[in-house]
Amino acid sequence: MTEKKLETLLVSAGRQKKFTQSAVNPLIQRTSSVIFDTVEDLKQASKNRTKGELFYGRRGTLTHFAFQAAMTELEGGAGCALYPSGAAAITHSILAFVETGDHVLMTGTAYEPTQEFCDHFLQKMGISTDYFDPMIGESIASLIQPNTKVLFLESPGSLTMEVQDIRTIVRVVRQVSPEIVIIIDNTWAAGVLFKALEFGIDISVQSATKYIIGHSDGMLGTAVANARCWDQLRERSYLLGQIADPDTVYMANRGLRTLAIRLKQHEENSIKIAKWLAQRPEVAEVYHPALPSCPGHQYFQRDFTGSSGLFSFILHTQLTPQQFADYLDNLNHFKMAFSWGGFESLILGIQPEMLKQLRQYHSPQKTGTLFRLHIGLENPQDLIDDLEAGFARLAIR
Ligand SMILES: *Cc1c(COP(=O)(O)O)cnc(C)c1O
Repeated sequence: MTEKKLETLLVSAGRQKKFTQSAVNPLIQRTSSVIFDTVEDLKQASKNRTKGELFYGRRGTLTHFAFQAAMTELEGGAGCALYPSGAAAITHSILAFVETGDHVLMTGTAYEPTQEFCDHFLQKMGISTDYFDPMIGESIASLIQPNTKVLFLESPGSLTMEVQDIRTIVRVVRQVSPEIVIIIDNTWAAGVLFKALEFGIDISVQSATKYIIGHSDGMLGTAVANARCWDQLRERSYLLGQIADPDTVYMANRGLRTLAIRLKQHEENSIKIAKWLAQRPEVAEVYHPALPSCPGHQYFQRDFTGSSGLFSFILHTQLTPQQFADYLDNLNHFKMAFSWGGFESLILGIQPEMLKQLRQYHSPQKTGTLFRLHIGLENPQDLIDDLEAGFARLAIR
């Protein structure tokens, strides 16, 4: 059989009859208990409890199994663990592989709560973390210690979008210490624009809250692991009580069906707006992985099959608090919010001192105000008009 192309895979993955019972979509199966008629049935279910057989609610139901099968196929792993949020997927993927005395290496542009988890939680367990410059490349070798257990990547980086040279980083880390578990927060690529496991990464984590659910109406985390890490990830996450509710899992499963076409439109719209911003006199630099002005653009071109809708740009100047509010308070289409990945456009404004507080490894040398945009599925001209009116408000003062 020839390999299925992405669009086809997204439509068909996980739609086995045992999950759908001949409907198009899988059942929503809400249960805590699974009922066994005979001692023998219970014995069999117990034996197969990690193999997608009904056993107990926390091990998942047919709804979970359908989505897990789809995600596993999509990201090319041995299995997919589910969590009630992306943050839980991140923290539990790390926790599954560390113990007191261990060391974690983490990109200094990882999602802020991921870094805070290391600083405030792992720290207390006696697990140390060193952060590294996302553009480190082969110098990562010098940071590996004998007790380094986990390398955590996120590419593009949060807020400033640095694309990492993952091929080099993975090669060097495997040479120095093959046992290190390499995890990536692959949310920006929705698990499809960057095929993490094909690059030798062990676990691809996503906030499915973003593009997979895709409609800003649910929270979910996924972690797809390769054969080397799957058993340990699954069992540790299970011990820590991680499961997601079947209704949300159903929505995530539904989101997969339109993911390819949504991503294409997010990409087209975001590139259009990024290019428009790059021409603006107020804008110093645009950090969109698909544009040469983004740090690591060459790695994006080499390793990704496309881009999504999240990027940022930095102004020449730092806006005054009044200008900052004038710009953000009066936008029509860009609502101010954390999170992203839904059908709607969103904006976050970040002043230089806020960025500095976050971490020392963000690459911009510029000191202007930064805006992070999520470009939704609106007509891009409406979005451009909105941003342009914002710039006009700045000029008035
Ligand atoms: C939103 C986000 C998370 C956290 O996901 P939740 O589902 O909100 O917990 C993690 N990583 C990245 C890159 C994110 O954007």
